[in-house]
Amino acid sequence: MNMPLFCKVAGDTTIPAEVDVAIIGGGIIGASAALELAERGLRVALCEKGEIGGEQSSRNWGWVRRMGRDVAEVPLAMQSRMLWREMRQRVGADVGYTESGILYVASNAREMAGHEAWYEKTRHFGMEPRLLSAAEVAVMAPGAGRKFVGGLYTSGDGRAEPGVATAAIAEAARARGAVILTQCAVRGVETKAGAVSGVVTERGVIQCGAVLLASGAWTRLFAGNLGINFKQLHVRATVARIEHSGPAPEFAIGGTDFAFRRRQDGGYSVAVRNSNVVPLTIDNFKLMFDFLPNLRHSWRELQIRFGAHFFQNLQIPRHWGMDETTPFERTRINGDAPYGTLDTQALHNLIRAYPAFTGAKITRSWSGVIDVTPNALPVISPAPLQGLFIASGFSGHGFGIGPAAGRLAAELITGQATSTDAAPFRYAA
Ligand SMILES: Cc1cc2nc3c(=O)[nH]c(=O)nc-3n(C[C@H](O)[C@H](O)[C@H](O)COP(=O)(O)OP(=O)(O)OC[C@H]3O[C@@H](n4cnc5c(N)ncnc54)[C@H](O)[C@@H]3O)c2cc1C
Repeated sequence: MNMPLFCKVAGDTTIPAEVDVAIIGGGIIGASAALELAERGLRVALCEKGEIGGEQSSRNWGWVRRMGRDVAEVPLAMQSRMLWREMRQRVGADVGYTESGILYVASNAREMAGHEAWYEKTRHFGMEPRLLSAAEVAVMAPGAGRKFVGGLYTSGDGRAEPGVATAAIAEAARARGAVILTQCAVRGVETKAGAVSGVVTERGVIQCGAVLLASGAWTRLFAGNLGINFKQLHVRATVARIEHSGPAPEFAIGGTDFAFRRRQDGGYSVAVRNSNVVPLTIDNFKLMFDFLPNLRHSWRELQIRFGAHFFQNLQIPRHWGMDETTPFERTRINGDAPYGTLDTQALHNLIRAYPAFTGAKITRSWSGVIDVTPNALPVISPAPLQGLFIASGFSGHGFGIGPAAGRLAAELITGQATSTDAAPFRYAA
């Protein structure tokens, strides 16, 4: 059975006059923060311009992993794993979380050296990843159509269902008193005496003492209207769901040019790994020097495209008044059809790597816009406006670490001691 791309949450009809915290963006980060804050007894409004989980949070691969994470992000990924483990009980719904393992296979010595380097850097965390020899990979994932030189396997990493998780978390927040507002874009923030005093939505003003900007790929645009230069760019990634009835491992596998994981609906989500499309915009030029150091390592994974998108993007207003229709109301869901032939390429690459998938059929494909920061780490931090907090820029990792990121954001907003180190995620101008 084909699962929907995302489960639709019916939003609340009445907007509250006042809450403690208004959250801008109903992706997994905003929903997780809403749940954390509502559990602490705060009055919360979660404002989503389109549908809960309609953008990146439903369009991703669904991998929940600690393996391969930046060392600074590992503690957040470890805490998130604990939160995923208890998610079913906490939200009262099956979000498909399964610790079925993730295997990275290395096609050459360079890739294997990368896995070894990561393994050495993160040994002190006491996690369970294992470096595998070529022979061990062949035993673990037999039937490969090419020779792998080794691999990295983490038995306790796994997956959850992007199509249901964010909606379930938002509904759990609502059950604890949060107000969920869909089709409700936030146009801007009101201030009094230099501090946040409310948000202006397309349906009216909500007074509040704190605002969390968890607006995914839209954060740079929103923050820019407040005079905040949030350094963020976009890449577009394509995923396909395939139907396959033959043998295949329960764990997910990622290789140089392919990735797949089993889905709860019986199919598999597949993608071309390390192949993201960058539709050039003016921001790519403005932020070139910020992104250059990281680009040196990742340029091989990027397909840079210049075309109509550049000129369409130039038409988007960067500044607007609170009584104007904003870009957020003009694009309710940012996410689209697959890019070019990347969906069929994904299946082709998978079959080349594992011929057992021959005959599998694509039943649906889509793309999503991933928001990236210069160092590929998210910003979870107070912003340079009193009462405003940012949790954004998850750089392709936010689904797995979403629950812990939501917790960290809630701790910062409430002034609690943080349960993971917030320093690596601090906003820098
Ligand atoms: C193809 C793909 C594969 C990925 N694979 C993985 C993976 O396997 N594992 C992993 O951990 N991560 C993965 N990611 C990354 C992960 O999906 C994201 O990092 C994560 O979902 C980000 O969550 P978010 O809440 O920040 O953003 P989003 O889910 O994009 O949510 C932001 C929300 O804010 C709303 N919004 C924006 N502006 C406004 C406004 N002004 N008013 C109201 N609402 C607004 C938007 O409509 C949107 O719904 C992948 C992403 C993609 C696209």
